Amino acid sequence: MKNSITMNESRFWKTMVVSNGIGTHRETGLKRLAFTEEDKAMRDVFVQWCREAGCEITIDQVGNIFARREGTVPGSDPVAMGSHLDTQVNGGRYDGILGVLAGLEVIRTLNDEGIETLRPLEVIVWSNEEGARFVPTMGGSAAFCGNWDLDFILNAKDDDGITFEQALQSTGYQGSAPLPSRRLDTYLELHIEQGPILDAERKQVGVVVGGYAVRSLVIEVKGETAHVGPTPMDQRRNAIVGAAYVTTALNEIGWKYHAEDAKTTTSRIVAFPNKQGIISEYAEMMVDLRHPTQAGVESMLAELKQAIGKAQQRAQVSIQIVKELKYGMDSFDKEVISAVKQSVKKLGYDSMEIKSQAGHDAYQVALVAPTAMIFTPCDMGYSHNEKEDATPEQLSPGLNVLLHSALARANRPL
Ligand SMILES: [Zn+2]
Repeated sequence: MKNSITMNESRFWKTMVVSNGIGTHRETGLKRLAFTEEDKAMRDVFVQWCREAGCEITIDQVGNIFARREGTVPGSDPVAMGSHLDTQVNGGRYDGILGVLAGLEVIRTLNDEGIETLRPLEVIVWSNEEGARFVPTMGGSAAFCGNWDLDFILNAKDDDGITFEQALQSTGYQGSAPLPSRRLDTYLELHIEQGPILDAERKQVGVVVGGYAVRSLVIEVKGETAHVGPTPMDQRRNAIVGAAYVTTALNEIGWKYHAEDAKTTTSRIVAFPNKQGIISEYAEMMVDLRHPTQAGVESMLAELKQAIGKAQQRAQVSIQIVKELKYGMDSFDKEVISAVKQSVKKLGYDSMEIKSQAGHDAYQVALVAPTAMIFTPCDMGYSHNEKEDATPEQLSPGLNVLLHSALARANRPL
């Protein structure tokens, strides 16, 4: 194996330019929600590129795409690289897309160089990572890992009442590969940091050693409809008010733990009937708590539960946490992290260890396969915003670290 091999970055950027044109939103952003026309168009282009690169395509029941370049040892488990091609409603051009198109370019570069690997290489596109259309986030990778039931994922509905499965079928990307079943030797995900640390510290690569502990909750608030005029204050059971008390209490918890770098968010409240002149009987909230440690997020959650008790009394409603998703922490594999560090050293880049504060498919895959992530800097850390940006100089080190880490893992003696 040649040590000097580097990615064909001009070709990689040409693929980025094509992606930038599919689902363009607000000049420099993307709106490419899962299983929309735009998502289908991007998948079509990606699959065509992979076939041209000699890959065999497999698609599973939730629309995850696996593009495989065979290895020289038949039947060995693949070293996979991947991320997602869907975006947020006001998404950027790099979040997720970088990890997928970088994986493709690894395969194209190896093809050009005539380099074979012992294990197969795969590029994976995970479905609906953002959760911007169907809740939960990371639905494709979570179904792949058996972390969520297949039926729960397939029956999730978007705001128009269309199910995940209906939307997936309309794109033609529901495959027959069963879930969960596929084995991976290694999973590597290259991603922009989505935060300001690497850019501010002027580091070329972030070696992700774990993630913040995250609790993602769905909370239901139940009250009763009534007229907004004659109903006395002490007889009101307004679900919106209950959701508001929980929201402000959660925000205060975030401030209380701010010095420890914790974060709290209410990202969504949907109420019914949500009309003028009537008190709402129902609200569904999505909230999120993050902390660098498991103990920290646990005590924040305990405080939230206390606050829910108070909000129930004050608003005269019932409030229940109906879904709780946990992820993050030290779920990445020491050997794969070490392979990433060795690639950084071999290539002479300036790097730092970093913890991911965002959710990624890698957290799901880490439950079933040895996994690590590589972060690149991005401009000021802007993300989930059309201002998300990264220069070729910022991405180049991460691209080459992905290439060399994948090669090292794929050529380990069997
Ligand atoms: Zn992402």
